[in-house]
Amino acid sequence: MRTLSRRSIGAHAPTAGGLATIALPYVDAAAARAVQVFVSNPRAWVLSPGDPAQDEAFRAGCAERSVPAYVHANLLVNVASPTPATVERSTQTLAHALRRGRSIGAKGVVFHAGSAVNSSHARTVLRQLRKAIVPLLDETASVDGPSLLVEPSAGGGHCLAARVEDLGPYLDALGWHPAVGVCLDTCHAYAAGHDLAAPGGMTATLDALVAAVGPGRLALVHANDSKDPCGSLRDRHETIGAGRIGEAAFAELLAHPATAGVPVIVETPSTGHAGHAADIARLTGLARGPARSRSRSRSRLGGAAEIVWPDK
Ligand SMILES: [Zn+2]
Repeated sequence: MRTLSRRSIGAHAPTAGGLATIALPYVDAAAARAVQVFVSNPRAWVLSPGDPAQDEAFRAGCAERSVPAYVHANLLVNVASPTPATVERSTQTLAHALRRGRSIGAKGVVFHAGSAVNSSHARTVLRQLRKAIVPLLDETASVDGPSLLVEPSAGGGHCLAARVEDLGPYLDALGWHPAVGVCLDTCHAYAAGHDLAAPGGMTATLDALVAAVGPGRLALVHANDSKDPCGSLRDRHETIGAGRIGEAAFAELLAHPATAGVPVIVETPSTGHAGHAADIARLTGLARGPARSRSRSRSRLGGAAEIVWPDK
């Protein structure tokens, strides 16, 4: 019964100072039921070896709390790049994130779909994608490691996947590998032109996603409101209900059958854990609420942002 079920709604947690030491208290303080972390500096090509004691404590702490964990890969990763050195670094970085993800008990590693950068490269890029990513998928599947979750971007610049329909050719290039899944970011989808704020818009987008990739591929949702209008191609996250997407769309998201059992992570602006705690509480309330009586009132919590998700 939906009203009594406990949804896995959580947040991207900080880790500076120790994965277990910092992220687990954050999970508790925000009342998060799912968690996402970076396993290395998200904006540098440095592969952190991690700390085995912290890894084990984090893995045990998440298991104890029944909190599914996810890794967000380095934001520089672009497996679709026309520059061979970037493809090589991206591939190594994803391999590292999958290994680290396995060490910390993560269920998935999220990476951005990538950009072909120019139109001539766009014609051959799917072959490159297959060559780079399928070995990673085979490897992680062989050790029962995390899935690799492709996240469509906000669009523009020859992105390989921004609209949910783009995911069909993308997953096709990867041979519909069982170790690949999808992470849908609501802010990105809205920026890419899916009008989630229109009544029924979120439902139609999720229907289109399922039509493109089939049931069961959606493995994670990044629930973020947007500071910018639909189709802006801009990726500026906002507090749930305080942005252009609005609460009613998130209620639709949580009521859609494609999201049943799928963890939800907020990457919204937050001062300490407080903003994330409020967003998790708001989404949890929307998940419980009856579908027809949701107000479209906007939160007054927006504007207090001090932490900005570095995803743009
Ligand atoms: Zn995201």
